[in-house]
Amino acid sequence: MTQRRGLLIILSSPSGAGKSTLARRLMQWDEGLRFSISATTRAPRPGEEHGREYFFLSVDEFKKQVSEGEMLEHAHVFGNFYGSPTGPVKDTINAGDDVLFDVDWQGEQQIRNSDLGKHALSIFILPPSITELHRRLVSRGQDSEDVIDKRMQKSWDEISHWGAYDYVLVNDDLDATEAQLKTIITAERMRREQQPALQTHVRTLQAEFEEMS
Ligand code: ADP
Ligand code: 5GP
Repeated sequence: MTQRRGLLIILSSPSGAGKSTLARRLMQWDEGLRFSISATTRAPRPGEEHGREYFFLSVDEFKKQVSEGEMLEHAHVFGNFYGSPTGPVKDTINAGDDVLFDVDWQGEQQIRNSDLGKHALSIFILPPSITELHRRLVSRGQDSEDVIDKRMQKSWDEISHWGAYDYVLVNDDLDATEAQLKTIITAERMRREQQPALQTHVRTLQAEFEEMS
């Protein structure tokens, strides 16, 4: 009876607002949540591993996967290609688990318009201020000043799409935002459309009711 269909949970934000940190916390919270490992043509950052944070591909390899229809969505972000492989997403939601995506607004739009779009739940993470966004990018200590400038310049472009999302959270206090995300996911899992087994359960209730009357 508890068998449910998985959700496609999409987290977007300007770079540095905290979505990777929040995604990591959600993954620790619930084993039924699988991270969609994207493919990208950008170079790995120190500590990143092929097949863990991303699949690091050449531009040719990336384009081949797109042309063979293997990407649920793909986009050009900060001068590199990024995309979400379709296969693992379908396997995960059919098994009743949820997929967590860290993608930009273009990815959100394409997933929502895909044939899996009716199972999409999108959440936008805003920073408390632009000054704090810059501070977080610097404190992460993973990007050069040039890259940080580029990301700051693009941040408004990303923020301007906030109105397309189902939920919008201001990530001021990290623990509070994490708690809000868990509340949203817990409730969305209970949506009628996410629980196909309810049909059978209600039919069983009806049969039992008719037997008694
Ligand atoms: P994104 O994935 O959105 O680019 P990250 O998750 O990498 O952002 O976060 C950027 C930096 O900000 C990291 O150093 C992270 O530890 C820090 N951070 C994230 N959320 C908060 C918060 N609510 N308060 C303070 N620092 C935060
Ligand atoms: P980063 O290089 O910091 O890991 O990611 C840069 C941006 O690319 C982030 O906004 C992130 O959400 C986005 N991104 C990462 N993977 C994907 C993907 O598969 N598709 C799309 N559309 N965006 C992605």
